[in-house]
Amino acid sequence: MGITEFLLARLAEEEAAAGRDGGDDDARRPRGWHDPARVRAECAAVRTVLGLHQRADDIWGFDGCLVCGNVADTTHGYPCPTVRVLAAVWDGHPDYRAEWAPGRGGHHVV
Ligand SMILES: [Zn+2]
Repeated sequence: MGITEFLLARLAEEEAAAGRDGGDDDARRPRGWHDPARVRAECAAVRTVLGLHQRADDIWGFDGCLVCGNVADTTHGYPCPTVRVLAAVWDGHPDYRAEWAPGRGGHHVV
């Protein structure tokens, strides 16, 4: 399982769990951090960020995320620093791989 698949699986779990927390029944709906609408919005945001930070390994010999590669010239390789940070939220999950930890691998600046 790659880091992208790992993240998409965790987001799907979060959304499924949010759907069980009272659904659209306003009286039973949790507020604040556990509000299903907030959880779904956060999952959508993370999914969008992940989409922006995909691996590009067939462009002019570059292998990495074009967004992070453009911001920090020394950043190449994948996962990029941004995706590493997103995945680290679930670093206790059995499928999380230690080599994905922020600050590890290649020439990442984070
Ligand atoms: Zn990136």
